[in-house]
Amino acid sequence: MVHQNQNDGVCDDVNDMLQNMNTGDNNNASVCANCGKEGSSDEIKNTCNKCKQVKYCNAACKKKHRHKHKKDCEEHVRLATERAAELHNEELFKQPPPQNEDCPICFLRLPTLRTGRKYQTCCGKRICSGCSFAPVYDNQGNVVAKKVCAFCRTPTPKSIKEAVEREKKRVDLGDPIAIHNLGNYYRKGMHGFRQDHVKALEQYHRAAELGDAGAYSNIGYCYMYGEGVEVDQEKANHYFELAAISGDNTARFNLGNAELNGDNMDRALKHHMIAIRGGFSESLKVVKEMYTNGDATKEDYTEALRTYQEYLGEIESAQRDKAAAAYAQYCYYELGA
Ligand SMILES: [Zn+2]
Ligand SMILES: [Zn+2]
Ligand SMILES: [Zn+2]
Ligand SMILES: [Zn+2]
Repeated sequence: MVHQNQNDGVCDDVNDMLQNMNTGDNNNASVCANCGKEGSSDEIKNTCNKCKQVKYCNAACKKKHRHKHKKDCEEHVRLATERAAELHNEELFKQPPPQNEDCPICFLRLPTLRTGRKYQTCCGKRICSGCSFAPVYDNQGNVVAKKVCAFCRTPTPKSIKEAVEREKKRVDLGDPIAIHNLGNYYRKGMHGFRQDHVKALEQYHRAAELGDAGAYSNIGYCYMYGEGVEVDQEKANHYFELAAISGDNTARFNLGNAELNGDNMDRALKHHMIAIRGGFSESLKVVKEMYTNGDATKEDYTEALRTYQEYLGEIESAQRDKAAAAYAQYCYYELGA
């Protein structure tokens, strides 16, 4: 997947592909492609550096055969390149898992819209707007008057300072959201953290490895803007793709728009459709615009609307509606286009 290390003019993906194609061979017996000598794979162990598809008994045979093999070799590499691109696209355009886990209280899908959920620095849970708004009861069935976490009933932090102190504890426990947030504090130099792009990047990598899709996006931005690393647009794109594959809707939306700007309407539509299924209403607006401009069909737009409805059906809840009606800060979806 990483298009960075060039090796004989063939990128890593393709090398992996060629290596895999090769392991299908009978490993016990090999034949030198030049002189025809047979032997065990230990004896005939010189492989063509580029395509890795042919073997030789020694370096001299390999050199002798080079000219004759050139055309085949190019074909092997071409096929492997094609296959690697195919596999990459398969992975890239697969519907990813939802960006957030279900709400741990009502067990419904967590809304994608930021105001539809809240991260609790006490227990590290993400609770939906409906459950945040609903009264909390004690064991006798009485409403708890003090503001407490709806999940673990720890009193709500009294200040940002207290919330950040709690978050630090979550970082020590390996909570990817807390680690991601710590990365943000370093990146922006806030909440008492001195701005440090290298430390920010470290946190993003750690959070990403622990499954935080958004952290991949932030690594992408670090490469895009050269924060803590040299500017490298190719690496940035690689991390944006990883973010999208892991379920980050914003990354998916940006990839879709990049394809749109490159006039790759098919790929643009695919990205936006995936983001719409993930509950990203901005992508629905883009597909509507594509339809208006004649870049998408009426069927595409109808499908986009249907897909968004499907998502809305999954997050719909009376409790969340009640919360949203009471306070705009509990709004949990947008109507889209
Ligand atoms: Zn030979
Ligand atoms: Zn070759
Ligand atoms: Zn809930
Ligand atoms: Zn809690």
